[in-house]
Amino acid sequence: MLNGYTELVGLMASPIRHSHSPAMQNEAFRRAGINCVQLAFEVDNSCLKEAVHAIRILGMRGSNVSMPNKTVVGKYLDKLSPAAQLIGSVNTIVNDHGVLTGYCTDGIGFMASLKDEGIDITGKKITVVGAGGAATAIQIQAALDGVAEISIFNVKDQFYEAGEETVRKINKFTDCKASIYDLADHAALRREIADSCLLSNATGLGMKPYEGITWLPDTTFLRPDLIVTDTVYAPPVTKFLEMAREVGCRYMNGHGMMLFQGAAAFQLWTGKQMDVDHMKQWLREVGIF
Ligand code: NAD
Repeated sequence: MLNGYTELVGLMASPIRHSHSPAMQNEAFRRAGINCVQLAFEVDNSCLKEAVHAIRILGMRGSNVSMPNKTVVGKYLDKLSPAAQLIGSVNTIVNDHGVLTGYCTDGIGFMASLKDEGIDITGKKITVVGAGGAATAIQIQAALDGVAEISIFNVKDQFYEAGEETVRKINKFTDCKASIYDLADHAALRREIADSCLLSNATGLGMKPYEGITWLPDTTFLRPDLIVTDTVYAPPVTKFLEMAREVGCRYMNGHGMMLFQGAAAFQLWTGKQMDVDHMKQWLREVGIF
């Protein structure tokens, strides 16, 4: 029951009404018996500073933050987690008695989704395609969590420089060795995938307006013992994952990353573990997964 003690967490982004996060977090609060609600607020960069101020003034427990605010909101906060600092992006704010700390749980969610499937990539090499927000979070978190080597591929667009910056940061601040290559260099792509244990798509290719499209030239780049992951979850099986399935690879879409980034935010706000087994079943029942 909502009452005078109900705590509030926000979700600040624009556009935001389509997001599954409030439904998911509110079911998790209900399941855990926590008197808290998440509400979505249409907030873009133009009113972000005031919206963050409201977290303090209203005594909100915190907020999720999504596009276009993830890379901007840090300057309005008091502290950043080491990962949020390195990634340069915040998707979760926690308010501890007026002190606002920013976290990035996207990479945590990716790593936790692998762990949930019994997959351990620490000490191993992975190849990640993409240099945008999702890719950077995955690459930095993987490096912080002990992945030995990361090969990054991206097309030579405006994101390539961000990929070069990620490589610099990983090589400087972690024990992981990172490199970046042009996605058009198919010889390098084949070579780097060959000794990787995992290949991930962290670009938007495969979802609208790029449905049915992948950057993977053909299935000869894959092998049955390669783990293949996609950040995309709509459609649940992208062209990229279809190719992985054809070769007999173990594959995962972005549902796990989405669930576990939310579980990490839930834990930061409440200090409690989200009941992820219940949430998986509930997300399927309500048709989100
Ligand atoms: P972004 O806009 O920050 O980055 C886009 C990336 O796609 C860049 O690397 C860009 O170079 C690449 N790209 C764009 N057009 C391309 C093309 N024609 N060929 C090859 N590469 C191309 O986006 P983002 O926020 O990083 O999101 C990327 C994907 O990850 C989206 O599909 C998003 O829905 C998904 N995502 C999933 C989760 C999750 O929890 N599962 C979380 C965040 C993002």
